[in-house]
Amino acid sequence: MRSLLSAVMLASAPLGAQQLTGYASSSAAAQRAAEEHAITRPDPQRAREASRALSDGMHVAGTPGQARTRDYVIAQMKAMGLATEVREYQVWMPHPTRIEVWVNGRPLDLREGPVAGDVTSAKHAETLPINGYGGSGDAEGDVVFVNYGLVEDYTTLDSMGVKVAGKVAVARYGRSFRGIKAREAEKHGAVALLIYSDPQDDGYVQGDVYPDGPWRPAQGIQRGGVMNGAGDPSTPGYASKAGVPRIPLGQMPVPHIPVVPIGYGNAAELLALVRGTGIPRGWQGGLPFRYHVGPGPTRARVRVETDTATAPFKALWDTFGVVKGSEFPDEIVVIGGHRDAWGPGAGDNVSGTVSILEAAHAVAEQMKAGWKPRRTLLFATWDAEEWGLIGSTEYVEDDSLRLQKGGVAYFNQDGAGGGPNFGGGGSPSLRGLLRDVTKAVPHPDAPATSMYQWWREQSKVPAGQEPAMGDPGGGSDFAGFYNHLGIPHSDWGMGGTGGGNYHSLYDSFEWLVRFADPTFKYHAAQARVATVMMMRMANADVLPYDYAEFGRTMRPYVAPVDKASAANTWSLHTASLAASIAALENAGVAFNATRDSVLAATPAKGAAARANAQLIQVERALTRPEGLRTRPWYRSLIYASDENNGYSTMIFPSINEAIRAGDPALAQREIDDLAMRFGKATAFVNAARAALVDK
Ligand SMILES: [Zn+2]
Repeated sequence: MRSLLSAVMLASAPLGAQQLTGYASSSAAAQRAAEEHAITRPDPQRAREASRALSDGMHVAGTPGQARTRDYVIAQMKAMGLATEVREYQVWMPHPTRIEVWVNGRPLDLREGPVAGDVTSAKHAETLPINGYGGSGDAEGDVVFVNYGLVEDYTTLDSMGVKVAGKVAVARYGRSFRGIKAREAEKHGAVALLIYSDPQDDGYVQGDVYPDGPWRPAQGIQRGGVMNGAGDPSTPGYASKAGVPRIPLGQMPVPHIPVVPIGYGNAAELLALVRGTGIPRGWQGGLPFRYHVGPGPTRARVRVETDTATAPFKALWDTFGVVKGSEFPDEIVVIGGHRDAWGPGAGDNVSGTVSILEAAHAVAEQMKAGWKPRRTLLFATWDAEEWGLIGSTEYVEDDSLRLQKGGVAYFNQDGAGGGPNFGGGGSPSLRGLLRDVTKAVPHPDAPATSMYQWWREQSKVPAGQEPAMGDPGGGSDFAGFYNHLGIPHSDWGMGGTGGGNYHSLYDSFEWLVRFADPTFKYHAAQARVATVMMMRMANADVLPYDYAEFGRTMRPYVAPVDKASAANTWSLHTASLAASIAALENAGVAFNATRDSVLAATPAKGAAARANAQLIQVERALTRPEGLRTRPWYRSLIYASDENNGYSTMIFPSINEAIRAGDPALAQREIDDLAMRFGKATAFVNAARAALVDK
């Protein structure tokens, strides 16, 4: 145990003694007792068995391996006594059938291959290096090094007079979503794109490589989707049921050039003899030679064949374990994580799937002991997240009416049990709930310390502040729930051991037990948090959202708009936006106080339910049915993924995209529109408060 924790342990309150926000004093004690039992139920040994079983074979979306994981998860949930459901979608998803790369006429060996001590890698050594939704074709040209392939890297190349058109671009992974790298390469006329993992980012510059250490070896490959957008690209905005109309390939947001991921061993072959222009500052990576931009004289040829002509559509399966709510069956709490992977996927995302299974186990066992959820609980696993959030998106489009009306929370599990450190994020309205729940769960390395105390300690949070949490921009299955529908979202995970097996064949059970979670105690701990999150949300008298924290979190986001306005010598008026955010915060403060005093006594019959009906509308009001001007599917006006990065979050995207587009008139309209929507959200909070005190 780390000595620095002892002081914290003395100071921490006994676990489980916290207030249960949103619970009447009459219902809190029974709920607390049920939660205390339930958190003892996630079981490291059972988690280990599930992890072993699910990571035993490859389970890329659209392959028979995914039917196997579907059947495994459904069988587990049935054995727990849960009702189950499988939803099938027919998704346009061609798979590469042949991938070849030549350097100066010599073929590269693209396989990752077996490593000593890793049985999984020996079994699946021939796995193709796929970038999901890359184009097909046979292209050849001089090699040009484009650094990370960011928008600004191409600006730099332009300023150097380096032409990418007609060339084979080589980009390194990192600093942006790979779909953006593909989009930019194609936009600048590259005939093919090779993306490699530089040793500086997750290879030998970081530490010993697998199998000696956890970092990426020379042949290690980061596979991944390269589509920009969410869901089946042939059915934008509606579910991919069999027989629905499809848009033509030319209109889909997918690359049309071949895009292939390679290891840094092969990247060295491509880059070592490139000459031409010297590299700009910061472009040198970790390979043992001086990098050059080119183009040439090294030439590359890239050939990708797919099954587009023979089998362009694949069946995808989302799975659900369902517990129908006893009092409010139309109010739905969803926990989900993706079940597909690029390889064995022990970390990404068998671990998240195991967390969901263990939480379902705990809830099911607690129900056998007499606990009853008042709201409906869904324990979901999604297919084809890796190809572009596809399974979750199709489901959300399929069930949008039901979710829009009754979705009270979505919890995402993508990556779990990766180490002792805790992290979380999501909508500011649920951050308080996540903090509360982590106060009730012990940390596995220091059982007298709550997860919350460990979290504070590990992130060195000053007294009086809370641990920072991530914003829901892009990159996982919460997008359909949060960014598309405005359902409050929270996610969390354990990690901190580092490594270079992301999207590789080496994301194996062997790697996981050696470097991340040998005893599966972190997997179990993450599932304990999931268990309490589900149970707390299921039975709260008043839904435990915090719109005071939501407003407080929004407050500092107005100043950057003013700053951009000044920098452009525009005169954007933001006073109404600032005032409407302050009004939401004030309404939240007043609501929280009223809620706590009403629940401390005996609320009038039906008052809490009427308040909840209003509360469900608050974040829906911060979405806009027609979406962002640039991306209509993204309806949340609070957070979106940055269009030029894919991973990072853009706050107030409607306003900030107008600013980026250099359009002050549009920016002003967007500011006024968002201020109006904050006003609507505030009206729902006030209506909820009125409902609580109404006799
Ligand atoms: Zn994942």
